[in-house]
Amino acid sequence: MYIFVINSGSSSIKYQLFEMPEARVLCSGLVERIGHENAVLTHKIYKGGKEDILTSTEPINDHGKGLSKVEKLLTDAQVGVLKSLDEIDVVGHRVVHGGERFAATTRITDDVKKDIQQLFPLAPLHNPSNFLGIEVAEQIFSKASQVAVFDTAFHQTMPPKAFRYAIPEEFYSNLGIRAYGFHGTSHKYVAGKAAEYLQKPEAKIITIHLGNGCSMSAVENGQCVDTSMGLGPMNGLIMGTRSGDIDQSVIFYLVNREGYSLDEVNTILNKKSGMLGLTGYNDMRDITKAIDEGNANAQMAYDMYTYRIKKYLGAYIAALNGLDAVVFTAGVGENDIKVRQMVCQNMEYLGITLDEEKNAVRSKNLREINKEGASVKVLVVPTNEELEIARQCYELLAAE
Ligand code: AMP
Repeated sequence: MYIFVINSGSSSIKYQLFEMPEARVLCSGLVERIGHENAVLTHKIYKGGKEDILTSTEPINDHGKGLSKVEKLLTDAQVGVLKSLDEIDVVGHRVVHGGERFAATTRITDDVKKDIQQLFPLAPLHNPSNFLGIEVAEQIFSKASQVAVFDTAFHQTMPPKAFRYAIPEEFYSNLGIRAYGFHGTSHKYVAGKAAEYLQKPEAKIITIHLGNGCSMSAVENGQCVDTSMGLGPMNGLIMGTRSGDIDQSVIFYLVNREGYSLDEVNTILNKKSGMLGLTGYNDMRDITKAIDEGNANAQMAYDMYTYRIKKYLGAYIAALNGLDAVVFTAGVGENDIKVRQMVCQNMEYLGITLDEEKNAVRSKNLREINKEGASVKVLVVPTNEELEIARQCYELLAAE
C-alpha cells in the first residue's frame, strides 16, 4: 500500500511517500514560500540506500500549483518513483485541531470537512492551511482515500480533571474551552516505541517533545492522561518563541496599564517570547554557543527552560503515581546533551538518573541513557510524525 503523507502549512507543503506496512520511504520533500516569486521545491528520492536531492526555485502561486509540481515529480519518467498517481492508495493529512469531535484518525468525508472547518476558530493559524491541503489533494489524488490524522486526538483520553479549566462552566459546554494538547502524533509515536522497548504495554511514561514547540505528556497503558499544552499551543514549557506558562495577570497588565493591543500581546507571547525573548536566539545551538562564550542571560534562559521541564516531570510523576520511563524527543530533546543532563540532574529521589557517557553518544537510534540498574529508564527516542501518520492511515484502512 502506498501512502502519501501531507503536512500543509500556510505557505508550505511537506510530504513523504511511504510503502506500507514495510514503512519504506520512497521520496519526501518540501514546497516552501508558496505565494512568492521565489518559492523553493526540495524533493528527495531514496533508492538503493542512496539519497538524490532535486531543488528548484520558481514562482508557485498557490498550494494547488505546488502539489501539482510534486505530482509530476512522483511520476516523472526519469526521477519518478511511481508509474501512475493511481498507485497511491491513501493520502494522510496532518490536521492540527480535531477538537472533541475527533479522537481518532478518520476518513475524510464532506461531513468531516465541515467539522474541520468548524474548528477553525480553535486553530486559526493551522486548520485553514490543513484544510486547503485536503481540498487540493482531493483534486490531484482523486483515486486515493483521504484520511485526517489529528494532533489533538491522542490527548482525547485525558480525564476532565486534567483537561478542564476552572472558569465558568458555560465556557466549556457552550464554547468548548478546555485543554486539548498538541504534538499528539509525536507523543503517541515515541510513547509507543518506549513501551515496545520496555516490553511493557501498560508502562507509565513521560514524553518530552522539545522542538521549536515544546510539550510534555503523561502516558499510561498507551493512553494520554495529561499534557502541557492547552486550548492553544502556548501553555506549558518554555519554547523557541512561546512563553509557556505565565500568570494571566501579565496580559491584563500589558493591555490595561501599558496600552498594548490584544493582538500585540498575542504576537509577543507566541512569537517574541520563550528563548528568543530571553536571549535573542530561538535556536538552542545558538544559545549553547552563547553560554560557552559566557553569556549570563543565555545561561539563565537555559536554567529556566530545564527547570520548567523538571517541574512538569514532578507533576506528571504525581499524576501517574509512578514512572517507568522518561522519553526525550524532537530537535532539542534528541540532540541537546546538556538539556537532558540539566533536566535529569538532582532527580535521584524520583528514580531518574543519567549515565553521562551514554548521554553524550550521538545517534539517530532509540537509546537508553540512564545509569545501570536505575528504576526509571531515560530514553532518547527519535520522533517520526510522518511515519506515525502513515501507520495510522494503514491501520485504519486495514481495519475496514
Ligand atoms: P524540531 O521542531 O523538532 O524540528 O526542532 C527544531 C529545533 O531543534 C531547533 O530550533 C533547534 O533549537 C533544535 N536543534 C536541532 N538540532 C540541534 C542540536 N544539534 N543541538 C541542539 N538543538 C538542536
